[in-house]
Parts: sequence; structure tokens; C-alpha cells
Amino acid sequence: MKQALLLALLSFTLWADAHLFVYHRFGDNKHASTNTSLPVLEKQFKYFKDNNYKVVSLKKLHAALKKKERIPDNWVVLCIDDSYKSFYTNGLDLFKKYNYPFTLFVYIEATDKSYGDFMTWKQIREASMFGEIALHSYAHKHMVSMSAEAIKKDTSRALVSFEKNMGYKPKYYAYPYGEFDESVEKAIFSFGFELILNQNVGAVSDKSPLYSLDRIALTGDVNLKTKLRIKYLDAIWFLPKSYPKNAKLNNIHVTMSPSIKKAELYVSGGGWEYIKIKDGIFKSKKTYPLKLRRTRVIIRSGHAYTSKIIIKK
Ligand SMILES: [Zn+2]
Repeated sequence: MKQALLLALLSFTLWADAHLFVYHRFGDNKHASTNTSLPVLEKQFKYFKDNNYKVVSLKKLHAALKKKERIPDNWVVLCIDDSYKSFYTNGLDLFKKYNYPFTLFVYIEATDKSYGDFMTWKQIREASMFGEIALHSYAHKHMVSMSAEAIKKDTSRALVSFEKNMGYKPKYYAYPYGEFDESVEKAIFSFGFELILNQNVGAVSDKSPLYSLDRIALTGDVNLKTKLRIKYLDAIWFLPKSYPKNAKLNNIHVTMSPSIKKAELYVSGGGWEYIKIKDGIFKSKKTYPLKLRRTRVIIRSGHAYTSKIIIKK
């Protein structure tokens, strides 16, 4: 009996992963697809508190990742993208009430040019007393369609303004729309950000690469319990590398632990299908016609997820 309990505990710790969540707007009904209402936000915060989840700063997670420490399963990191005004006017008070740290990823141009819906630098500095401030590009463009040179120009411009207004260099970067490919990743990586965050479904473990941390979007009244069950699946994606020119995906090649024999595959536009994995290798030659500009290819084994985003240029 004791042995069984020990085994159960061991398998639990082996799958220990933190969850990174990303919010956009708060209590702003005009934009339902990116909004989290205040009653829902409070429900989620209460859920973390009542169920022994620990909301930690991205800095704390980063320190543990750097040291390759085991990431506690109950860690939650909260991110806010775009620096909408509704975070300052509606959301921030609840973060303060629960004493939950956050990382705010700033869309620089919107603040520099005082777009009505966005926070001012003064408000961002005020928010920085309660959380970390990081970068979310200058012009918030679809970067996969941009040249490396244009991406670097956008980032340099963002850094100049950030430093001027905050007095330090941002350490963390989140891609606009969570969209990237190898060349976007390379261009952003060249700036030496300590962490780069995407918006692929998944969790974060000690094996997560620092330049590609998965974040789960929380908008509307989502089932938080289901999202918290998601684990990290350690995998290497060889194919697809990018969006196929003929919009037909006919090669998928992923390697993972040989202990994984069966999993499920999802390609945007279709449903989940069972796939067979041999010696940790999954190779598919089936053709998936792609209908959307943005396709997610996701593999899950139990609750463990790994995914790839491919975007039409
Ligand atoms: Zn954004």
C-alpha cells in the first residue's frame, strides 16, 4: 500500500508543470472575444486560492527554469497582453486585492500615440508597482509576413521607447497574436530577451525552452479546471516547418519519449484523431487541406500537450 502511494506521488511529481495564462481585456463587454468579466476574474482568482494554486511572478518561474529546478505543479503565472486601459481601470484592483503578481506585455505604439483604448505610460509605471512590465512589440503586426529586418526595426523602436519611459530594458517578450515561425523567433531571439512567450496550448516544465514558453489564453467564462489539467509534452517538431505553399499539409514529423505509444492529433479545421507512435516517432503522410490563415497542429497524450502554429504569409 505504502509503495503504491509512493508510486502515485512519484508519477505526480514527474508531471509537475506550471501554467501560464494570458488575459487581454477586463470588464469590457464591447469586445467579448478578448474580454474577461470581473465576476469571472474573481471566480478564477478565488479558485486558485481555494485550491492551493500559487500565483507566482514570471521572474520567479524564470529563476527556477534557469536553475533547471523542478517546477511545482501548483504554480500559476498570469500575463496580460496589449496593455488595454481596462486592465488599469477594471482588472488591476482585483490583482491587488488577491496580491497576485502579473506581467503586463506592452503594445508600445498604442501607448506612445495615446490610442484611446490603451494605458498611458504613467498608468503603466503605476501598475509596475504591483507587477512586471514586458514587451509586446512596437506596432503589434502579423510578424510572420515581415522580413527579419522589419521585425528588428520594430523591436529596436519598441526598446528605445520602453527604456525611455520605464528606465530599464524589458527582459521578456510576447509575440503579437502569438504568431511566429522560425525566422520571427530568430529575429526576436537576437535581442537577448531572457524569456520569449507564445500562445500555444501547453504548460511549462523544467524542459521548456526559455525562448518558447506556452501560454493558455483565458477569455470569457472558460473551464479553468480543464486548463489546469494540461501538462507539458516534451517533443521535437521536425515538420511542418512552415505553412505549405499549396495549403496542403502532407508531412508531420515529431519525436517524443519512446514511452508514448498512443496520442491524438488535431489540425485546425478538423477534429481530434488517434495516432500511433513508434519508438517515440510520429510520422504522418496524410494530406490535410488547410482552410485557415492560421493553423494549429496539436498532439496530446493524456493531458500532456505539444503544438505547432503555422501561418500563411
Ligand atoms: Zn496582443
